Amino acid sequence: MRWGLVGASNIAAAHMIGAFRANGGTIRSVLSGDPDRAKSYAAEHQIEFGHTDLDKMLDDDDLDAVYISTTNDKHFAQAMAAIAAGKHVLCEKPLAMDVTDAVTMVRAAADAGLVFATNHHLRNAGSHLAIRDLVQSGRLGDILSLRIFHAVHLPPHLQGWRIDNPAAGGGVIPDITVHDADTVRFHLGEDPVSVVAMSTGSGMGQGVEDSVMSVWEMRSGAQVMAHESFTHRHAATGVEIHGTKGSIHARGVMTQNPVGEVTLVTEAGAETVPFDQHDLYARAVGLFIDAVAGKGAPAADGRDGIASLAVAKAVAAAAESGRRTDVDYGG
Ligand code: NDP
Repeated sequence: MRWGLVGASNIAAAHMIGAFRANGGTIRSVLSGDPDRAKSYAAEHQIEFGHTDLDKMLDDDDLDAVYISTTNDKHFAQAMAAIAAGKHVLCEKPLAMDVTDAVTMVRAAADAGLVFATNHHLRNAGSHLAIRDLVQSGRLGDILSLRIFHAVHLPPHLQGWRIDNPAAGGGVIPDITVHDADTVRFHLGEDPVSVVAMSTGSGMGQGVEDSVMSVWEMRSGAQVMAHESFTHRHAATGVEIHGTKGSIHARGVMTQNPVGEVTLVTEAGAETVPFDQHDLYARAVGLFIDAVAGKGAPAADGRDGIASLAVAKAVAAAAESGRRTDVDYGG
């Protein structure tokens, strides 16, 4: 598959360029708002064309798909342009700044017969696939609750717009709560109905929240407790899922790398759950390519991206108002 990178981003450099090439892909072009950066990024990553004009980049019959990883405020217009040009789209989360735009872009891709996917990496991890299989197998019994802890320390090179630019989509809720929403939906196979939340600035955020805690009610009645932060230097990440017959304790699994530990605890005792340690992003790209070839669906599709954004928006609204807020999935 021949890819265009919309956005000369860190995530593309750190994970996605490798994932495209690991799947036999070619990266034809990259778009940056800055001509010098377009040139230097293209040279550094052996990409043929560095563009500053999206229409020019998309006017290329040898381009099959785009990967959008600009700041969040740009995803909607860029995805709509790519879809209008007939390109398949792998879009970073959050899909857009609001649910209405996300619904519009996902519908536009469907109407055009194009594959549209959301780059939620966590559901591609061997750890999370093993957890999801255990939940679905019934070994935990009826699910009572899920606790997800995803408080990290945002490294200095990623602090930029995330910590001080609400117009670009900064804040921990658009950045990390969306991933947790996707992970919870993936494991429990159901959508949150309503949420309560409190957010705060605990030393890093300037005009945006850098920490949030929330509680979600699921359709089944199961309860979810979520914690996301940019300011926790020494916290462990993880997820616990508690059912009537067993619990899963997973540590170190809310990460970009194939690491962590998963333990199943039942009346019989504790057992370590083995899992595959493949690259998360390469798996997502592989499933995207299969979907374009008409085989199966992407790991996280457009509907998943709409839902994770909808939950994050409800958490933000609940934190703002102090009230329990229904999740609006946009119809
Ligand atoms: P970056 O800050 O690296 O990139 C965003 C934009 O900032 C780029 O498009 C680029 O603009 C500009 N930029 C980046 N680095 C520099 C630099 N050194 N000098 C000048 N400009 C620069 O963002 P991320 O890669 O962290 O995030 C991009 C998107 O990906 C976001 O939507 C985010 O939510 C998502 N993301 C997803 C992850 C996942 O695991 N699924 C992980 C990390 C991010 P230009 O293109 O105009 O050059």
